[in-house]
Amino acid sequence: MDLPLGLAVADNNVVLEGVHPNLMNFLAHLAMIHKLLFGADMVITSAKDGKHVPGSLHPLGRAGDVRTHDKTPDEVSLFIHVITFSAAALPVALFDERNVPPSPHLHLEWHGV
Ligand SMILES: [Zn+2]
Repeated sequence: MDLPLGLAVADNNVVLEGVHPNLMNFLAHLAMIHKLLFGADMVITSAKDGKHVPGSLHPLGRAGDVRTHDKTPDEVSLFIHVITFSAAALPVALFDERNVPPSPHLHLEWHGV
């Protein structure tokens, strides 16, 4: 899969095939903003792959995880503000899972059609 500008995956285990097209569009736009703000690609650490809790939207292709350890706490705070501003107009839910083992990340869910 060709990745949109500014979007990267953590490794070859990350599955983007089958992710909801509207969530992919959102992530692509967010990646460009990420590149603008931080001068680096936005790294997806998990999408339609991996092990997730029962009821997770990941197997449905409606969730994606974004790396946080490549940003300072202030940068993550800024990014969270940007996402929540956009999420007010879009059916996106954001969960700050920096304290959820095994790896800190932001979890994004698509709740639209
Ligand atoms: Zn997740």
